[in-house]
Amino acid sequence: MTDFTYSVDADGVATITWDVPGKSMNVMSREGFALVSGMVDKALADPAVKGIIVTSGKDTFAGGMDLNVLASIREKAGKEPAQALFDFTMSGHHILRKLERAGMDPKSLKGGKPVVCAIPGTSAGIGTEVALACHRRIMADNPKAKIGLPEILVGLFPGGGGTTRFSRMVGAMAAAPVLLEGKMLDAKKAKAAGLIDEVVAPEDLLKRAKEWVLSATDAEIVKPWDQKGFKMPGGAPYHPAGFMTFVGANAMVHGKTQGVYPAAKALLAAVYEGALVPFDTALKIEARWFTNVLMNPSSSAMIRSLFLNKEALEKGANRPQVADQRVKKVGILGAGMMGAGIAYVSANAGIEVVLIDAAQEAADRGKAHSADLLDKGMKRGAVSQAKKDEVLGRITATTDYAKLEGCDLIVEAVFEDVKVKADVTAKAEAVIPATAIFATNTSTLPISELAKASKRPDEFIGIHFFSPVDKMNLVEIIKGKKTGEVAVAKALDFVRQIRKTPIVVNDARFFYANRCIIPYINEGIRMVAEGVEPALVENAAKLLGFPLGPLQLVDETSIDLGVKIAKATKAAMGDAYPDGAVDEVLFAMAGKGRMGRKANAGFYAYDEKGGRLGLWGELGANWPVSDDQPELTEVQHRLMMAQVLEAVRALEEGVLEDIREGDVGAILGWGFAPWSGGPFSWLDIIGADKAVAICDGLEKAHGARFAAPKLLRDLAAKGQTFYGRFGAGAKAA
Ligand code: NAD
Repeated sequence: MTDFTYSVDADGVATITWDVPGKSMNVMSREGFALVSGMVDKALADPAVKGIIVTSGKDTFAGGMDLNVLASIREKAGKEPAQALFDFTMSGHHILRKLERAGMDPKSLKGGKPVVCAIPGTSAGIGTEVALACHRRIMADNPKAKIGLPEILVGLFPGGGGTTRFSRMVGAMAAAPVLLEGKMLDAKKAKAAGLIDEVVAPEDLLKRAKEWVLSATDAEIVKPWDQKGFKMPGGAPYHPAGFMTFVGANAMVHGKTQGVYPAAKALLAAVYEGALVPFDTALKIEARWFTNVLMNPSSSAMIRSLFLNKEALEKGANRPQVADQRVKKVGILGAGMMGAGIAYVSANAGIEVVLIDAAQEAADRGKAHSADLLDKGMKRGAVSQAKKDEVLGRITATTDYAKLEGCDLIVEAVFEDVKVKADVTAKAEAVIPATAIFATNTSTLPISELAKASKRPDEFIGIHFFSPVDKMNLVEIIKGKKTGEVAVAKALDFVRQIRKTPIVVNDARFFYANRCIIPYINEGIRMVAEGVEPALVENAAKLLGFPLGPLQLVDETSIDLGVKIAKATKAAMGDAYPDGAVDEVLFAMAGKGRMGRKANAGFYAYDEKGGRLGLWGELGANWPVSDDQPELTEVQHRLMMAQVLEAVRALEEGVLEDIREGDVGAILGWGFAPWSGGPFSWLDIIGADKAVAICDGLEKAHGARFAAPKLLRDLAAKGQTFYGRFGAGAKAA
């Protein structure tokens, strides 16, 4: 194993270089930890060694813990997974603590060897925690480099000592953006935040690190918490200022997480409890809370969906085995809201773009969207003038289809109209190479129908973006009946180039995401029609961790879009259409001109500037609130099951082929309660038999839409879980 190498130079400076073979970014494994431990022992024991530089052989420092390792420790630990995770965490603490004490005499605090971390580029998670255990952190002024502790974003918190060390370095309040929000900072901001000590030119990094090692005094290498009389910056919990901080932080965390994210709560508890005891005890407390979080089913589900499975999908878990299909030149038809966004993300990824609209003005407006976004980036200091010119230089805005010559991919985003789409398909196909793939961004029209306008339906596919394109990371790839493997690979390679997360589904009404979102919105509206207090509906959703309640969501996407979809669905389904009660409310709102946020009036009231004021005061006058309100749990079950059962049906019907895509797609596509890991993970957490019991109750009270799907009953009968039966790459039967 060569994840770390060790060398000592003529001046007695030992260098431990982290360079995991075959990985673009260093990750920490169990063996890696053991290796570092041995190297630290060697350096401390060697009288010729004066100090240690910890650095990386790559242009980045480290990406973090290999989360697969944590998952496998838990799985392999048999009956005592918590003990195994705790022991593993404590062994990491011991190694980093050994590095930090660096051989000094525990009483006099003298005689230790200086340890500096030379950080050439991005550092996250355990990488940053290793750096925090060193005596000094010097980071290269590398414009791409960011440093931080983003664990909280995948349902964990920094459990390698980062929580305890950083909160004691800067105080609980100042540590909050890094620990609680997972903010990654560039070198200058990291220095201002106290995460690092020095920023130097990249070429001077090792020279400066060595200089520091050779000049550091005994006093410079003793951490504040190892000195007598240490006081927590900003005040420990029983200090008046500290008390205010913890009370405020508690309220803030609860307000942001609604109590559904165990990691945020555990992080705060580790900081609070740790602040009351000596450092080594605080590390033990941190390890206990970390174990607690790792054992929480919500955290495992979040890690699985937001880290392991998301990454697997991005790396092409479901990509057909065909040659590299990376896109060089993309033609985008329609420069409206979606086309303009797709043009921006493509050009930004280095792809040449031809952006077509019916009028030159419209095409230019589409290109101007990229200029606007780049200007915003320049204001933030994230984009240079040269970068802006380069990106805009890749976009040709035109009405001329002849310019599509040489495009290897077309993404069509014209009006949602079969005839208009057929017309532009024919026009583009007359020009593009025979091997080019044609993709449509339709949100409601069946791909197989639209493919009929194509001369080569095997090269026709759906690539469904979400709005706003530059912010939404999910892309749904839809296979029509005749779509071939190359088209799927092309779509996946394109999504990878623009650094988004793909799911691949089969063609069916509303594909996957919208199929689940629409019943969520409809259930909310249906409850308003029934006389359920609208605030109860919205808060029930928020308390489940949904970013938007169903009524706010329909305001955002617009009531007229809802009306349009309802009419089209009714026309397609005829008598089987189940949402008459919903339409009464929706159509009445549209009739009053309350089209949602864009009209400054919808289920919510807005001020002239579009600021949301609160639920519309006259909702109750139109749909009287009943005296008999349901329990919160019942409202939550209705909102949850409305979406989740649709996901199960999509799997049953073969629209979804992989539950990982169902979970990742739900969180990224419509913010489905991220703490749950997605619809399938949530069902696994509560268990199929409990889910069936909830469905049976809801079906009796509210109708057949809540009938438990056969697949769910089957899992309940056999005592199985979704991940047990369909997990880890296994395709749905
Ligand atoms: P839009 O109305 O903003 O843009 C459509 C553009 O197509 C307009 O600029 C129009 O001038 C242009 N156009 C129309 N006919 C044309 C033709 N014959 N040749 C060239 N250009 C033509 O619409 P949008 O919101 O960008 O939606 C575009 C497509 O994306 C639709 O199929 C829609 O269903 C789908 N979609 C929309 C969203 C969304 O949130 N808006 C999300 C996903 C998918």
